[in-house]
Amino acid sequence: MTKCDKCHSRSIIHQRYSGMRLCHTHFQEDVRRKVREDLRKTGLFGHGARVALGLDGRWGSAVLLQIMTDIFSRRKDIDFVAITVVEGEEGTPHRDHAFDQARLLAERLSVRHIVAPLDFGARPSEVSGCRDLDDLKMKRLMNEARAEGASILATGHSLDSVAGAIFLKLLQGDVDGLFQRQDREAQLHHIEPLQRIPEREMRLYALQCDLLPANSKGQDQNRSCQDDLHQQVRRHLGSFDSRHPGTNYSLLRSLERIHLLRDDNASGAKPLSDDRK
Ligand SMILES: [Zn+2]
Repeated sequence: MTKCDKCHSRSIIHQRYSGMRLCHTHFQEDVRRKVREDLRKTGLFGHGARVALGLDGRWGSAVLLQIMTDIFSRRKDIDFVAITVVEGEEGTPHRDHAFDQARLLAERLSVRHIVAPLDFGARPSEVSGCRDLDDLKMKRLMNEARAEGASILATGHSLDSVAGAIFLKLLQGDVDGLFQRQDREAQLHHIEPLQRIPEREMRLYALQCDLLPANSKGQDQNRSCQDDLHQQVRRHLGSFDSRHPGTNYSLLRSLERIHLLRDDNASGAKPLSDDRK
């Protein structure tokens, strides 16, 4: 039996990026600690807030809803609304297995749940791939969150997903795109509190907490989107990260560093009088 590095219990996971072997209890603690630290770093929870949470019936959003409602269970000034974007016209949204999972989980955690239909009639003609559809769903989610009076929108993207998105933007030279989601001028702050949780750990956590049935299609990526550029990047990055553990974390840290540099420039020394001319 392999033991946990923090106690004498049996280890259930080996985190190759940290070198740690953890038992059931210490693994859960580790996941929650990372989420708590990430939430604290946003600086958005000092005062009361309405938090909209994108609940899509997959592992990530299920884990996020459970952890966030638990962390803020004693904060009466913070309330949650779970939003599920479904495809289909207004009035007759298409409700599938993932939708049912989302509804049941919101019910179990006593979180208000609303449905935001994505009207295909309203889909612009440029929607051609899965990525476009994801972007459209994200816009719908943001609009619904604003309509609900939320100041924060949380989504359950994993480390693999966030690192993949960063890498793709770098490959495409889309530096502006790296800052889109963290735009401080925006009234609605989009946060990704699971960005330091690798997908396989997210899945393990969801299974351990019985958040979704084991046979659920709770994966963070859409299997029908295998040819999508974003998925290609994730596949390559995934195999690179398994050979060189910690690569995804390095990408995330790079972005954080770029943000810091930008903030330093924005708030630091101003150019002298007419230097710029
Ligand atoms: Zn332990």
